[in-house]
Formats: sequence, structure tokens, C-alpha cells
Amino acid sequence: VQRILDRGLDPLAVCGILISHEHGDHIRGARLCSQDMAAPIFATKGTIEGGKLSPLQANPIRCDERMDHEGFNITPIKVSHDTREPCAFLVEADGSRVLLATDIGTTQGLDLTQLKDLDFLYVEANHDEEMLKNGPYPYFLKKRIAGTGGHLNNRQSGELVRTLAGQSPNLRGIMLAHLSDKNNDSALALETVRKHAGAAESVRWEVARQDESVELK
Ligand SMILES: [Zn+2]
Ligand SMILES: [Zn+2]
Repeated sequence: VQRILDRGLDPLAVCGILISHEHGDHIRGARLCSQDMAAPIFATKGTIEGGKLSPLQANPIRCDERMDHEGFNITPIKVSHDTREPCAFLVEADGSRVLLATDIGTTQGLDLTQLKDLDFLYVEANHDEEMLKNGPYPYFLKKRIAGTGGHLNNRQSGELVRTLAGQSPNLRGIMLAHLSDKNNDSALALETVRKHAGAAESVRWEVARQDESVELK
């Protein structure tokens, strides 16, 4: 809520909260935010159960099923991540299409055909392969992060951006998100993702931070 206030925006104008999966970094503040902002939570059934959300607060949504809420069209997209029913979100509002996609272990099996004509892309670039390999995490955690139930590295993120940008002629902005504190670096992430993304030169690139709010524009 503080981050919304920092931006000079009205928390009560928030009409809904989308939760992609039940890991703590995504669900921790959801109940309180929902109460404070009087905004309903939307999540898949698996996420509601896995995150022990109250059915009074959380509305179930289904992967690949579009739902309309207060002028937003939202389609949850099934992704590979080590939770019950994780998803990314395709959000359409005011004629713009935005993909919000973090916490993806692999893009194999991801249905990219419906993810075209995007205006904005908010996509995970979680770690640098070498930094993760040589970093401080214990072996099991390194394996989890790099695995198909973990997170996209900068190269994989770039390859995904390349495909999505290629089928989105009006793409205006790309924001790299969910960067690891220990296993990535903003400048390196930007450089590596852009290298693998190829084109997308006229697009505005930004890196989202964990400790600050950001604006898609
Ligand atoms: Zn997660
Ligand atoms: Zn996460």
C-alpha cells in the first residue's frame, strides 16, 4: 500500500489483486492489502488452497479462461513452477495488452500462440547462469532455481522476449522482473537479455526493483 502511495496513487482505486502462486514472496501481503484496499484477490484454485487464502477474500480463476473485472480482461496462463497451480497473467485494458510473467521454470510447454500483439511485457530475468553456479546458495537450491520448476535465467528470458517481441509489432515497453539479489545484477541482466532478444530496439527497457515501485509506461 505504501508503494502505491509513494507513486501518488490512490490505494482505494485498486480494484483487484492477482496472485500468481502461493510462494511467500507473492502471497505474504495479499490478505492485508486486500483488506486495506477493499480489493478482491483473484487466484487459481490451487493457489487459493496452497496459500490457505480465505474463500471470502479470494475468487477462483481458471487457467486459459478469460475473466472480466471492472474493465480489465484477465487470462491466467499456465506456467511451470514448483507450486500447485502457478500462472502468468495476460491483462487487457484500455486497448493495451500486458503480459505479467514471473516464476517460470521453463518456457517449454508454455502456449505462446495467444501471447501476441502485446504492448507491454513484464517478464522474469531471475539469474545469471554463471553467478548462480558460482554463488553462495546450497547445491539443492541452485538445482531448484535452475530447474524446470524454478526460474528463468537471463538467456532464457531473452529467448522468450525474442519470440514475444517478434509477434508483437506494437510492443512499447519491456520490464525485467524478479531479479535475484544474490545471483543477478541489473546491468548484466539487461545486457544478456537484450543480446538474446535480438531486435526490440525501439522498445523501452527497464528493470523492476524489489524495494521500489515501478511504473509501466
Ligand atoms: Zn515462486
Ligand atoms: Zn517469486
